[in-house]
Amino acid sequence: MVLHSKTVFANSSPLAIELNQLTKESARVVGQRWRVQSLLCRFLFPLIGLVGLTSYPVAPALAGGVAGKPGSPAAQADWCNRLSRRLPGISPVDCQNSALVQTGFVSRNGFPILMRDVSASGRREGKKTVPVRVLLLGGIHGDELTSSAIVFEWLKKMKTSPANNFEWKIVPVLNPDGLLAHKSTRVNSNGVDLNRNFPTPDWHKEAHNYWARVTAKDPRRFPGNAPLSEIETRWVDEAMQRFRPQVIISVHAPFGVLDFDGPAVPPRKFGRLVYNRLGVYPGSLGNYSGAHKNIPVITIELPNSQTMPSDLEVQRIWQDMLTWIVRNVAEQSPSSRNRKKSN
Ligand SMILES: [Zn+2]
Repeated sequence: MVLHSKTVFANSSPLAIELNQLTKESARVVGQRWRVQSLLCRFLFPLIGLVGLTSYPVAPALAGGVAGKPGSPAAQADWCNRLSRRLPGISPVDCQNSALVQTGFVSRNGFPILMRDVSASGRREGKKTVPVRVLLLGGIHGDELTSSAIVFEWLKKMKTSPANNFEWKIVPVLNPDGLLAHKSTRVNSNGVDLNRNFPTPDWHKEAHNYWARVTAKDPRRFPGNAPLSEIETRWVDEAMQRFRPQVIISVHAPFGVLDFDGPAVPPRKFGRLVYNRLGVYPGSLGNYSGAHKNIPVITIELPNSQTMPSDLEVQRIWQDMLTWIVRNVAEQSPSSRNRKKSN
């Protein structure tokens, strides 16, 4: 196990190779254009809102608002129709059967961040411990469609052993605005890479320094103006505090590997995916949770962001992931649980 006490930049990772393909000039031009748009969104439009013309840069009714009363069957059907149009292999019925509920957190474009809590239903007679708590996140990057779709597939398997021995909090689409954009985007509708927006130490210095120096201010990797500036990352942080997960699974695509941060033995292989460090980035969830909060984070990088792995591979990744949790995350005593009710 390797714990990174300081930031390590991965220059030989697939990501770094991808970044190197960007010319600095094109990145600079795009960055400038993006900064102008960002300034308009942050300052000018809210100012207009203050004088009564509109309350927010993108009104929910125009961009991402949902039909029907929040939480009503009509709203549920509307969420699912819109999500399933983007997600490979997920029908509106699959989505509705997932029984997602609102977290109370709503994206900038007015789409609710939806979740499902699943309590342990396996036999627990005689056990003096409490079930392991797992936080499972898909779609933190909106253009990694399979990372959300596979979570919907796994939601169908929650009643089977050993998944039913754990307590789950599951968000299949953490970045709905990115997923539902006209063309799906990595960043949220505020132009922030959510996986660079977590409050790692020295974030103000490190995150912007990295963005400028290594990514040449790539707009797809903008960390935000402040840590936890985004509603989506605030939800995750709050869930970490209230639900107190013992392991976090975060699904991405398309690098086709497993990554791991934190205090446990890294997984070697889930299905065909093999452990291979991608690097530690300022503001990433793995860095924040794994290295600094001592909660292990498994990052699953599926091999393709648009096309799902085979059904067999989806099942194998799932089984191997559960086996790793059983072997590496211990159940706790009730007294150490001591957690508040979570939403
Ligand atoms: Zn990603």
